[in-house]
Amino acid sequence: MILLKTKEEIELIRDAGRLLGETLAEVGRHIRPGVTTAYLDQIGEQFIRDHGAKPLCKGFEGFPAAFCISVNDVVVHGIPGESFIKDGDNVTLDCVIELNGYVADSAYTFAVGEVSPEVKRLMKVTREALYIGLDQCKEGNRVGDISHAVQMHCEKNGYSVVRELCGHGVGFQMHESPNVPNFGVKGTGPLLKEGMVIAVEPMVCMGSKNVKFSKEDGWNCRTRDGKPAAHFEHTVAITAQGPDILTTFDYIENSSKQ
Ligand code: MG
Ligand code: MG
Repeated sequence: MILLKTKEEIELIRDAGRLLGETLAEVGRHIRPGVTTAYLDQIGEQFIRDHGAKPLCKGFEGFPAAFCISVNDVVVHGIPGESFIKDGDNVTLDCVIELNGYVADSAYTFAVGEVSPEVKRLMKVTREALYIGLDQCKEGNRVGDISHAVQMHCEKNGYSVVRELCGHGVGFQMHESPNVPNFGVKGTGPLLKEGMVIAVEPMVCMGSKNVKFSKEDGWNCRTRDGKPAAHFEHTVAITAQGPDILTTFDYIENSSKQ
């Protein structure tokens, strides 16, 4: 069942989304060669708790950390650990927080130092695909309109989208109905209605769409061909006027320009 949110509830999700945007920026400021992903996770978890929120990934189906931190060919669900960040890596932070009972979900891929022009382009196209998907988030459209728009933008740029994982409803819980795949057919799938809140999250591979999940931990999802991937995500409310984006990259992108 798709749970609709009232205007008041959407404002509370926006509060969580704003704090999540600040959190991603705070951790992003610490991404540099020589730090471990466990260190980044620790900084982020502290920031979340200091602001009265809860990191919902921690403990979710046994996931051990507050953030998914996915480096280079890890598409999503990287478990923070003792490996060091290197110059030229691309690092995705993906985090879900609950503030005052309401939940926001957002992800951002950061470039560490000088990444290759190919990776830079992958990140740019993935970010564009997110906003092109978000443009479809208006009442009367269907989930397939979002999926199709994301898929087309990625494929026309020579990339592929992951099939095994998708966006989802969010707001009261971390994962709600409906699923929001990154591939699909226009005009199909659940109807978008005012009050729906969903996470749109293109997971985009430079090479083939095939991924493998770690046999050791069951989480870490890598591209099979070892080529890099990128992932950007926003939580968005559907309105009759169009998308109302409840998470924000402003804290990341405005601080990095200064
Ligand atoms: Mg996420
Ligand atoms: Mg998500």
